[in-house]
Amino acid sequence: MNAETPISMPIPGHIDPVPVPRAITPRADGRSDLMGLAREDIAALLEAAGLDRKQAKLRSKQLFHWIYHRGVTDFDAMTDIAKPMRPWLAERFVIGRPEIVEAQVSSDGTRKWLLRTDDGQDYEMVFIPDADRGTLCISSQVGCTLNCRFCHTGTMRLVRNLTPGEIVGQVMLARDALGEWPKGAMDRLDEDEDAAAYTADGRLLTNIVLMGMGEPLYNFDHVRDAMKVVMHGDGLALSKRRITLSTSGVVPMMARCGEEIGVNLAVSLHAVTKEVRDEIVPLNRKYGLEQLLQACADYPGASNARRITFEYVMLKDKNDSDDDARELVRLLKGYGLPAKVNLIPFNPWPGAAYECSDPDRIKRFSDIVFEGGISAPVRTPRGRDIMAACGQLKSASEKKSRAELDRLAEEKQAALG
Ligand code: SAH
Ligand code: SF4
Repeated sequence: MNAETPISMPIPGHIDPVPVPRAITPRADGRSDLMGLAREDIAALLEAAGLDRKQAKLRSKQLFHWIYHRGVTDFDAMTDIAKPMRPWLAERFVIGRPEIVEAQVSSDGTRKWLLRTDDGQDYEMVFIPDADRGTLCISSQVGCTLNCRFCHTGTMRLVRNLTPGEIVGQVMLARDALGEWPKGAMDRLDEDEDAAAYTADGRLLTNIVLMGMGEPLYNFDHVRDAMKVVMHGDGLALSKRRITLSTSGVVPMMARCGEEIGVNLAVSLHAVTKEVRDEIVPLNRKYGLEQLLQACADYPGASNARRITFEYVMLKDKNDSDDDARELVRLLKGYGLPAKVNLIPFNPWPGAAYECSDPDRIKRFSDIVFEGGISAPVRTPRGRDIMAACGQLKSASEKKSRAELDRLAEEKQAALG
C-alpha cells in the first residue's frame, strides 16, 4: 500500500470484484487511526513507534479494552495507562469514527445515517429497533459492482471497499448514538478496579446484518478482520450467532466465510430459474444456481439450529408465481438445506424497472413455501419514508449529482431549444 494507491475506482465490470483493496486510510496529520485494528495490529504499531515488545503487548491490551469495550476516543481518559504515556499516544494515534453527514429517524423508529469516509465518499448505515432486538445494518463497500436490477445501491457509479476501520466504525458510531457504552464510574476507574465489572446491560444493539451497501464477500479480508474485532470477547463481544452476512452468491468465498468468520449466512436467491436469476442478479451468469445451492449445502456451521436464510425479493410477474414457490421448495429440499426463506417486498426507488408483488400474491407465495415445510415469513419493510429499506441505500451525494446532471441536461436542452 502506498499513498498513490487509487482510493476510488470505476466499476470494472458487472461481476468482477473491486481490484484494489485498501487497508488503512492515510491521514493528513501523519497519525494512525487505531479504529478497526486487532490487538496484534495495535501492538505492532506501538512497537514500530518505539515501545519494546512487552510494553507494546501490555499497552495494546489496555487500548483494545478502552477502545472497543468502553468506547473511549480520548487517550487522556485511559486511567490505567501511565500519565506521561497518554500524550505520547495522542501524538501518534487517533481513535476515529466515521464522519456523520446526516442522521434521520423514520416514523417507525428506524434510523439511518449517511456517513463519509476520509476521502469524501458516502455510505449508509441503518438501525432497526424491534421489541426483542435491535439490528444494525452495516455497509461493506461504497456502492456495489454487481448491478442487481432491482437494487438502488447497484446503480452507484463509484465503488470502493470499506476498510476494517470504516466497518467497525459503524458499530462504534451506533453504540455512541444509542448511548450504549458501559456506564460505571469511568472517570474514577483506577488501576486496581476490575474493569470486567463494567458490562453494558439492556443493550439496544443486539444484532448485526451485513446487508447495507456492497457485496461483503467481494471485500472478504476487510469484512473478516472487522467482524473478528466486533466479535472479540474483550471488546464489543457480539456473538457470531447474532451476526448475519448476506451475499448475492459469491460462491468461491462462501466456504471461507463459514470457516474464517463463522457468522450466519443469508443468500440473496430471488429467483429459481436460470433465465430470471441471470436477469435480476447478473452474478448468476458467473456462478449458477446449482453451484450456489451446493455451496450452501456445504456451508460450514449450517445446521437445523443455524439455518441459512434465503432472501427472495417479491417482483410482480417476474418471480412470484405459484410455480416459482413450488420450485423454490423443491430446490431447497433437493439440496437438503437447513433453510428458511425471507420474503422481501420489493422496495421501490425512483427509476426502478420493477413493481412489488401484490400483498395477496406474497401471502399465497408464502403459504406454498410454508406448506412445503419451510418457514417463509414476509419481511416488514422498515424506514421506507427515509429511504432506509432494503436495497434503497444510495448516498445522497450520488442522488444529488444525478439531480444536478438532470438539471444541467435540462438547461442544455432549454438553451438548444
Ligand atoms: N450485496 C449483498 C448484501 C446487501 S443487499 C446481497 O445482495 O445479498 C441486502 C438485501 O437487500 C439483498 O437480499 C438484496 O437483494 C435486497 N434488496 C436489494 N434491493 C432491494 C429492493 N429494492 N427491495 C427489496 N430488497 C432489496
Ligand atoms: Fe450489490 Fe447486493 Fe445490491 Fe446486488 S443486491 S447490487 S449484490 S448490494
